[in-house]
Amino acid sequence: MKKPNTLFNYIGLFVLFTTLYSCASYNLYTPRYDQRLGDKMKREIESAPLKYPILIEKENQRIYDYVNGIVDTLLNTGLIQYKNEFAWEVKLLDDAEVLNAFVTPGGYIYVYTGLIKYLDSEDQLAGVLAHEIAHADLRHASRQMSQKNSLSTVLLVAGGATGTDLLADIGASLVSLKFSRSFEKEADRMAIRLLCATDYQADGLAGFFEKLESNGNNRLPAFLSTHPNPGKRVEKIKKSAADLNCQGTETNRRTYQRMKRWLQ
Ligand SMILES: [Zn+2]
Repeated sequence: MKKPNTLFNYIGLFVLFTTLYSCASYNLYTPRYDQRLGDKMKREIESAPLKYPILIEKENQRIYDYVNGIVDTLLNTGLIQYKNEFAWEVKLLDDAEVLNAFVTPGGYIYVYTGLIKYLDSEDQLAGVLAHEIAHADLRHASRQMSQKNSLSTVLLVAGGATGTDLLADIGASLVSLKFSRSFEKEADRMAIRLLCATDYQADGLAGFFEKLESNGNNRLPAFLSTHPNPGKRVEKIKKSAADLNCQGTETNRRTYQRMKRWLQ
C-alpha cells in the first residue's frame, strides 16, 4: 500500500506548506543553502566581466580597505545572526553610471563606483551597506524563493530531490535580486538598528534616499529598481532612528570626499 502513504505525505506537506505560507518569515532552505547559492552567483558574476566589471582589488587597495572598514564596523555590532556563517565579502563594480548596490544570498556585497561617487558622506555609504547586509542576514532571497517556488519545491522534496538537486535545478542567474516592498521595509529597519549600534549618524540611510528622491524626474536610479520604495521610506527611517534614540553623529564627510578622489 505504498500509494496512499505517498498521497498522505503530499497532503501532510501541503498542510505544512499552507501553514508556513501564512508566516512571512518561513524559509524552505537552510542558511548553508544561502551560502552555496551565493558562492555559485559569485562565480557567475566573476565570469562575466563585461556585465560585472569588478574593480581590481590589488590596484585599489585603499578604497577596498576603506569600504571593508565600514562593513567590519557593521558586522561587529553583535546584531548579525550569520556573521560567521556567511562570506561578507565586498567587491566594487567599476561603472560610474550605475547608482546601485546589491547582495547575493550568503553575503557577497557588490557596490557600483557610480553609487560611491554619488554619495556625499560615509554615513550614507554605511547606510547602504547596512541595508545590503540586512537583506543577506535576513535571508530575503531564499525567503522570496520559498514563497515563489514553495509548492513545487515541496513536491520536489517529497518526490525525493535533495538540496543538491535543487541547487542544480535553480540556476543562480535566475535568482531575483529584486526584493518585495515588505522585505525592503524589513531591511531598512534592520539597517537602522545596525547603524544605531555604531558611531554613525543612524539616519544616513535616509540621507541617501532623500538625495535619490530629490533627483526628481531624472532617470530612475537603478537602486530603486532592485530595492523598491516601500512607501514613506525617508519618514519611516527617521522615525525608527528617533524611536531607538540613536546617538551617533559621525558622518566623516571630509574623509569620504577624499576617498572619492581615489576613484578618479
Ligand atoms: Zn533593498
